Amino acid sequence: MKKKIAVIGSGIAGLTIANLFKEKSNFEVMVYEKEKILSLDEGYGIQLAPNTISILNKIGLSNINNKDFFNPTKLNFYSSDNQKICDLDLSRFNSEKSKYTTLKRSTLIEFLKNKLFSNNLRFGKEVKKISKIKEKLLINFKDNTNDLVDFVVVSDGVFSNTKSVIENKVTQPIYNGSIAIRTILKSLPEFNYDKNNISLVMLRNAHIVIYPINKKEEFNVICIIRQKLSNSIDLKALIKKEILSQNKNLENLFENQLKYWPIYISKKPSKSNYENLFYIGDAFYTFPPTMAQGASQSIEAADELFNLLSKDNKKTPDLFFKKRLMRTKIINRRSKLNYNIFHFSNPLLKTIRNKSLKILMKNKIFLNNYIGKVYN
Ligand SMILES: Cc1cc2nc3c(=O)[nH]c(=O)nc-3n(C[C@H](O)[C@H](O)[C@H](O)COP(=O)(O)OP(=O)(O)OC[C@H]3O[C@@H](n4cnc5c(N)ncnc54)[C@H](O)[C@@H]3O)c2cc1C
Repeated sequence: MKKKIAVIGSGIAGLTIANLFKEKSNFEVMVYEKEKILSLDEGYGIQLAPNTISILNKIGLSNINNKDFFNPTKLNFYSSDNQKICDLDLSRFNSEKSKYTTLKRSTLIEFLKNKLFSNNLRFGKEVKKISKIKEKLLINFKDNTNDLVDFVVVSDGVFSNTKSVIENKVTQPIYNGSIAIRTILKSLPEFNYDKNNISLVMLRNAHIVIYPINKKEEFNVICIIRQKLSNSIDLKALIKKEILSQNKNLENLFENQLKYWPIYISKKPSKSNYENLFYIGDAFYTFPPTMAQGASQSIEAADELFNLLSKDNKKTPDLFFKKRLMRTKIINRRSKLNYNIFHFSNPLLKTIRNKSLKILMKNKIFLNNYIGKVYN
């Protein structure tokens, strides 16, 4: 008898786990998405670590069009006055087939969606209630349909409404005190940074990350600024005050259409009261973006859960949670530390930071421990 799995939410986490299970003949997988169509937010870029790429290669990522992704080999650190401090050699964490990769989120989502059959995906579906019936879970949707399944995987993102419905308590993420401004640059002739790699400009209370997202001369620009939560923000005025006041030359990064969103993070990782219900991706834990690991962790979690459920291990809930908790702690500590270090304002601290970076980026033990533990 096939085991039935319902996946709630068709983001990176949900589509990855659905693809992994699709290949297993003893499982039947269905993804339930709230929206009417897949959200393909065009310009938004993501970075994926080598270990994540090796998971995606199992479902055929290596076959996507060569022009639609990029493999940067370095992360360049710049001070606020555009002076290069040093670089991190990303290629040292690569293997022949799994390389550090940047691409548009929409490219990844489309790839994952196209790998599924249309009868693996249902749109316009929102969970109203979940109840246990013997060993199974009965899902009641708001449109009065239902599904009786062996496992539920919840991957409905940072605000996970499904979690509040299932666990019968409101679980809201917290504002991390900064906003993200995003834009796409299309082949600027006077582009100051290394076109083939990732550039990180560290400013007072802000930082900017610029990287190619494909081989079509398109660059993702993400600017994180510490900022009180507010309903309306005049982006141009904010950029002038917080960024251009520190370096006027950064102006050309913000000439195209800008979008912004407040950054929310989780208070703690989520474990369900039901032993056959699991949270993955941002619904499990939402990280600050300063280690660029949100999408990678969504994919890793999908793979871990897939492996455990495939083995039909009674201890799966505990094993999955323990492993995720460990990974979450490692990445969260580094993300929070990066956030503070990137935003130093004190000149002495900045000098110490820049000198330390130069030394640490050449120190194998540090690199293997601080970054290798995350990327391999
Ligand atoms: C500024 C910024 C930069 C980032 N940069 C990077 C980066 O470089 N690298 C990286 O790895 N990560 C990055 N991330 C994080 C990354 O984008 C997320 O961690 C990742 O997309 C989470 O995937 P997910 O599948 O868990 O959730 P989502 O992608 O949010 O998907 C959730 C899905 O569930 C659906 N849904 C919502 N509610 C319901 C419901 N009630 N019922 C059914 N469906 C529902 C949604 O419509 C959506 O389709 C960044 C994040 C930010 C904020």
